[in-house]
Amino acid sequence: MITGKCECGRVQFEIDGPIEDFSHCHCSQCRRMHGAAFGSFAGVAKAGFRYLSGETDVTAYQSSATSTRTFCKACGSNFFVALDSEPDRLYVAMGVIDGDPPRPDGYHIYVGSKAPWHDIHDDLPQYDTAPADEESDAPQDT
Ligand SMILES: [Zn+2]
Ligand SMILES: [Zn+2]
Repeated sequence: MITGKCECGRVQFEIDGPIEDFSHCHCSQCRRMHGAAFGSFAGVAKAGFRYLSGETDVTAYQSSATSTRTFCKACGSNFFVALDSEPDRLYVAMGVIDGDPPRPDGYHIYVGSKAPWHDIHDDLPQYDTAPADEESDAPQDT
């Protein structure tokens, strides 16, 4: 069982199931919302995600016509991105997941809009926007 929590601890969750996808998104929305050079996301089955506490402290932000992000009202920690085009999956912010659960090799997306002050120093695959098979459900960069 994978577990996680926000910074203030009000919201705790668990994920029953494996991390199926692991990406680092450099789009401007992820950069702003995570206050960071990029956001890292664990793709998991939505059916396995469950709040253990604090669900009423979770609020949502519709970040594009087809994507919604959730975060803690009290501390601002990001929980996940949900894409209308992938109703059975959630992209959970890796930073709110506890420990070091098993996951596939990562890759970088939206590298074409990465922060000019950040350089990528690894050999993982890079995509200017999203990999071809994710094109239609990628969050819109703004
Ligand atoms: Zn919180
Ligand atoms: Zn992004």
